[in-house]
Amino acid sequence: MKILKFGGTSVANADNIKKVIDIAKKSSKNNPIIVVVSALGGTTDILLQAGIKAEKKDNKYLSEIESLENRHIFTVQELIKDSHQDEVISQVRTYFNQLVNILEGIYLINEFSNKTKDKIASFGEILSSYIISEAMKSQGVDAILKNAQELIITDESYTNAKVDFKVTEKNIQDFYAKNESPIVVVPGFVASTSKGENSTLGRGGSDYTASIFAKALNVTELEIWTDVSGMFTANPKLVKQAKPIKHISYQEAMELSHFGAKVLFPPTIQPVLEQKIPIRIKNTFDPGAEGTLITQNTNGNTSPAKGISHIENISLLTVEGSGMIGVPGFTKRILGTLSDANINVSLVTQSSSEHFLCMGIDSKDVTLAEKLFNKAFKYEMSQGIMDPLIIENNLAIIALVGDNMKSHQGISGKMFSTLGSNNVNIRAIAQGASEKNITAVIERKDAVKALNTLHNAFFEGDIKQLNLFVVGVGNVGGKLLEQIHMQQQYLIDEQHLDVRVIAVTNSKKMHFDTEGINLDNWKESLKEKGDKLDLEKFFKNVKSLNYRNSIFVDNTANAKISTLYADYLKNSIAVVTCNKIACSSEYENYQNLKFLARKYDAPFLFETNVGAGLPIIDTLKNLIMSGDKVTKIQAVLSGSLNFIFNEFNSQTSFHDVVVEAGVQGFTEPDPRIDLSGVDVMRKILILARESGNVMELDDIKNESFLPQSSLDADSVADFMATLEPEATHFKAISEAAEKENCRLKYVAEFDNGKAKVGLQHIPSDHPFYNLDGSDNIVLFFTERYSQQPLIIKGAGAGAAVTASGLFADIIRIGNK
Ligand code: ADP
Ligand code: ASP
Ligand code: MG
Repeated sequence: MKILKFGGTSVANADNIKKVIDIAKKSSKNNPIIVVVSALGGTTDILLQAGIKAEKKDNKYLSEIESLENRHIFTVQELIKDSHQDEVISQVRTYFNQLVNILEGIYLINEFSNKTKDKIASFGEILSSYIISEAMKSQGVDAILKNAQELIITDESYTNAKVDFKVTEKNIQDFYAKNESPIVVVPGFVASTSKGENSTLGRGGSDYTASIFAKALNVTELEIWTDVSGMFTANPKLVKQAKPIKHISYQEAMELSHFGAKVLFPPTIQPVLEQKIPIRIKNTFDPGAEGTLITQNTNGNTSPAKGISHIENISLLTVEGSGMIGVPGFTKRILGTLSDANINVSLVTQSSSEHFLCMGIDSKDVTLAEKLFNKAFKYEMSQGIMDPLIIENNLAIIALVGDNMKSHQGISGKMFSTLGSNNVNIRAIAQGASEKNITAVIERKDAVKALNTLHNAFFEGDIKQLNLFVVGVGNVGGKLLEQIHMQQQYLIDEQHLDVRVIAVTNSKKMHFDTEGINLDNWKESLKEKGDKLDLEKFFKNVKSLNYRNSIFVDNTANAKISTLYADYLKNSIAVVTCNKIACSSEYENYQNLKFLARKYDAPFLFETNVGAGLPIIDTLKNLIMSGDKVTKIQAVLSGSLNFIFNEFNSQTSFHDVVVEAGVQGFTEPDPRIDLSGVDVMRKILILARESGNVMELDDIKNESFLPQSSLDADSVADFMATLEPEATHFKAISEAAEKENCRLKYVAEFDNGKAKVGLQHIPSDHPFYNLDGSDNIVLFFTERYSQQPLIIKGAGAGAAVTASGLFADIIRIGNK
């Protein structure tokens, strides 16, 4: 014999109930079964809310009960098509009339006691079990209804009543001894006191009803049918990567449910535990799925952590005081104060000196707890033996659970360092004496991030998720998205990195998709679903999403955006940028960004600031970190100027070459930044700073090759217009170099603490002479590379190589 319990979603409407009946029919073919049912999904909430409204003299309760009645009648009409329908509808109406009468009573006397709450809430299961048993009968199924209120007897702690197992078990056994029906339908959750008053077993208590029947009849299996395929490694509604746990022990299931895994009502395990009746959690909407088996031992599965759960709305109470030290019974008194008022304590930590005691309780109980404490310890507080109670709200408890954690070293270390490196602040820590759980109290706003981060660390092999927020989707940004799109699957399979683009912006619009933007059609999504770009809102969104491994990617050359990096870093959001403005701004700002990156453990990477995708800054960092010292840097750092001076000679027009460089994407949006040398100044400044020098842009000598008229131009258009009239000026520059058999290269130099940039005549035996197209070259002279410099050379400009440099920085964060 088996017990099958179906939850609220499983019986929420006629279609779902049909599925339930099919499952019950199949299951009862060889064995008799008992089907325990919850109320139609959401009913209990509506009933209790109606009571609260009636108590407050809010008439709205009437229309809400009316629509609940219609929903039940509609369900009957869908399920029962024969002549029997009218009779069932009439009985449903009778129940609702009784309900409305009680609610009117509440309305009149302004009182909604726990006892009345149970009277009202019981209607949900009474109705559902009646409708389901009648629907079975109308399908010709041999089923009867048995009201659990006649069998399950409790004490009078209404809304959370304690079962009298002796009487209850006898009642169930006596009833069943006489039963001949292969299917008995029983309402979950409801019971009655020995005086015959309605009581209930606590919210979510239908699971418990099923377990009580399972024990009394010593069945072979208890099946909990719900809306998910088992007990998952974490709440599947909050952690997309969560997986059903195949096999778990009673202890583990109990810990997980105690710490918030709602899929099983915590007291459910206790009755079946004694007789070692297996529990199986199954999905009504996917009956073929294996689900979760819960037994005493989980042979073979030795993985230390089995799951993570969490409870929101936690408040932390801290009791502190020198007078508490070594006083016997103090802790007992403190905890007793709470337990006497039925306040559940989810977590307790105590300093070894007993100087303080920290307790996590449901926030709804805080006011009562404070009142009770002030009363119970009035004397101690007045004598200074005990300090006033400290209360912290808006917290959550997160618990890692597993029987085998005790025999594995370093689990708690891994748990806390994982949380720490994602900037999740831990307020308190507790480890169960049995070491079956490790719990941490964190801020509520961090709960979902903490769940996902821990899940990632403990259950996802080593797949790491990176969440990108991409600003700027022009030349470089567009290419970056294209490259990410191409590599996404490869990175998951080969590098175990799941790179998700959560947001994109262009200069007008921004678009977020919390599941990750589909890169097949990001352009359409941005155009059709995007909101007006608002950088402040963008930041707030990124911050409130609070995803682990968040990376802000700046693909623009925008000064305003570069001022936002500090805000991102302060929130532990990494910054990857090809925008040079921040790193070449005042030294203090550059230094501060690096400081924030260290302080908040948020990488700040800008490899593409110099030489696009070439690994220049990374190489420099490695040299410095390994103890080398840079003495001199010589470099051609402007892909655009290199392209321009490679193309420009006595036969070509300077103006046309500059236009062509723009068309090919080699110049900055404003070509004056390249041609004036400012871009190269910024780059050598960044290299000098990264080599450990304190330097400002003004410290760099710039010998411009531009004529005064070009330097004076106010706009890009004006500037371009000066180039043609100045053809002779440019021609003279080129001829002077040709005369010396030299080529023109725009060279940046850092030597002995001083930096300069300018056009130079390069002879044929110099490493710069044969630099093609838009290539860059850097020579690092260091203490180790003193004779022959370390040379890095290659494509130093263009959207594709810049994008691949940004991509490399992103991957670097992934591999951190
Ligand atoms: P029912 O109405 O069938 O009793 P519940 O809503 O009480 O269902 O419980 C099922 C829900 O529990 C799931 O839909 C899921 O949102 C939640 N849940 C929380 N933690 C877990 C977990 N670790 N595994 C599975 N479900 C979980
Ligand atoms: N209907 C009750 C509730 O919503 C009991 C249950 O569904 O388990 O809490
Ligand atoms: Mg439930």
